[in-house]
Amino acid sequence: MLQGNSLAARDVASFIHPYTNLATHLDKGPLVIERGQGVFVYDDTGRDYLEGMAGLWCASLGFSEPELVEAAIRQMRALPFYHTFTGKGHEPSILLAEKLKAMMPFPASKVFFANSGSEANDTQVKLAWYVMNARGEPRRKKIISRNKAYHGVTVAAASLTGLPNNHRDFDLPIANILHTDCPHHYRFAEAGETEEAFASRLADSLEAMILREGPETIAAFIAEPVMGAGGVLTPPATYFEKVQKVLSKYGILLIDDEVICGFGRTANMFAAETYGITPNSMSVAKALSSAYMPISAVVVDQQMFDGMVEESRKIGTFGHGYTYSGHPVAAAVALRTLELYEERNILGHVRDVTPHFQKRLRGFADHPLVGEVRGVGLLGAIELVADKKSKRSFAPDKGVGTAAVARALDHGLIVRGIADSIAFCPPLIITQAEIDLMFDRFAMALSDIEAWVA
Ligand code: PLP
Repeated sequence: MLQGNSLAARDVASFIHPYTNLATHLDKGPLVIERGQGVFVYDDTGRDYLEGMAGLWCASLGFSEPELVEAAIRQMRALPFYHTFTGKGHEPSILLAEKLKAMMPFPASKVFFANSGSEANDTQVKLAWYVMNARGEPRRKKIISRNKAYHGVTVAAASLTGLPNNHRDFDLPIANILHTDCPHHYRFAEAGETEEAFASRLADSLEAMILREGPETIAAFIAEPVMGAGGVLTPPATYFEKVQKVLSKYGILLIDDEVICGFGRTANMFAAETYGITPNSMSVAKALSSAYMPISAVVVDQQMFDGMVEESRKIGTFGHGYTYSGHPVAAAVALRTLELYEERNILGHVRDVTPHFQKRLRGFADHPLVGEVRGVGLLGAIELVADKKSKRSFAPDKGVGTAAVARALDHGLIVRGIADSIAFCPPLIITQAEIDLMFDRFAMALSDIEAWVA
């Protein structure tokens, strides 16, 4: 265990880090980040790192946007806190709900605020149950998610998540959560199977699950358009079209989790547009406020809102909400974020630099250690493999992904390792020159790894 009075030693003595090996951390200590500028962050020794993950897929406007700081200060001075329970309101949350609703790529009715993606998705589960009770279909309680999905870590959201480490020894998932196939063509398609044929097989498999369980027991299906923390898995062609056909056949709600994909990441404002998804409800967070304040939202269609009103009439209240639902400072910062996206045409910028990002990303495809390169918009991943031809992965205990992330850090680049896939999700404001710097730094890390595994 680190000793002394350094910040690192004090961290180890007091702080529990999320998503960290708590055992090795005792000796290793933290990387202390002190400040940010544009797409860069700086540690406490003054070293710069290009933040190739926008933090946790979230700091869309980079790490030093003064307009968002001003928005927070203005709101802090006017009204630093007030709640929205029992019909109370304040301007920032009202204006944000109005704006968000107007932006939605589906016929949205109303907006509910929470503080994190996990809380938004927990809310989605409860709303699906609530609305099915309102519909007079109380047996519809099962929610279908997918293997390798990531929907958060609160009890219901972690259950929706389809990654073993989020369940293992936490006694999850809870009852009524099912996981269907992961739509990763490279890993799960049969030999010679086209993306379209793979998508048809997965839609058939979903339908078989629904019939096996009984359609009258299924409330909703939840999906990230691009599965982020599962490895940046883009859907195979025709996947959502076919899945939506199955869902509508059986009256099952579709929940679109755009916590990563929302607000321009896939070169459309929402990935629902990129993939032709018409959901009943959407979860958003992260880039909603460029991550400058914790805030998330659940946007529901009229059918779902009608159910909520019906239950509320029956019970006497909508018995759900967080102390900080629609927190005025978070709402003011989020509202200013959405305005900045428009004023600065951030989507136009994403569309301008996406071809270069994708070209540089795909430039790694021929590398002997690279099995697959995948991505859309300013989102991508490079999957490292032991054998390119057979797609054989490295042994997990070799820790190739972890080593690649560490080498990248040595070269001044922060990326995320998901097993042996390396994810890229830079701030949306990244320039073409910074995209080059990011991939140049990654190329150096990859050369190091090539020498290391040889
Ligand atoms: N949904 C998706 C798609 C996510 O990627 C995440 C977090 O990365 C979440 C939900 C959970 O969000 P939070 O960490 O804010 O609870």
